Amino acid sequence: MADCIFCRIAAGQEPCVRVWETDRVLAFLDIAPVHYGHTLVIPKAHYDTLLDLPDELWLEMGRVCRRVAQALREALFARGFNIGMNNFEAAGQVVFHAHLHVIPRFLSDGLHFFPQGRYLPGDMEKVGQRLREALAREGA
Ligand code: 5GP
Ligand code: ZN
Repeated sequence: MADCIFCRIAAGQEPCVRVWETDRVLAFLDIAPVHYGHTLVIPKAHYDTLLDLPDELWLEMGRVCRRVAQALREALFARGFNIGMNNFEAAGQVVFHAHLHVIPRFLSDGLHFFPQGRYLPGDMEKVGQRLREALAREGA
């Protein structure tokens, strides 16, 4: 996709700080890191979101994430890491070329990603039922 920044990065047409790559997947530093070392893992080919990715490629992105996470622990002394993926505008996706965030974490770094709540009485079972029905329809 000509107007996609991550396609241009993957093709070497835009600069980035590369940390690892395979034939089909590239890992490079996020330009606006949550912490130093925050890395993006992308397929070199264009897919908009997770829902468009072929299974094999998704698996390969997972493998690359794991290697990057290990390197963050070794090289930058991260004590933990978050793997994140924003899919669609409502979830905060800004760049519509599927990508995983590998974010190094440190003890007491003060980051709290998602506030959590509670179900109203009876709602948890109803939500579970709706999801089970959708998954059964998909044949997942
Ligand atoms: P998302 O789409 O998941 O919200 O995040 C896109 C991420 O890409 C952001 O964290 C942003 O900082 C990063 N980003 C956007 N443009 C560039 C770029 O040109 N170079 C690099 N290295 N990162 C980018
Ligand atoms: Zn793209």
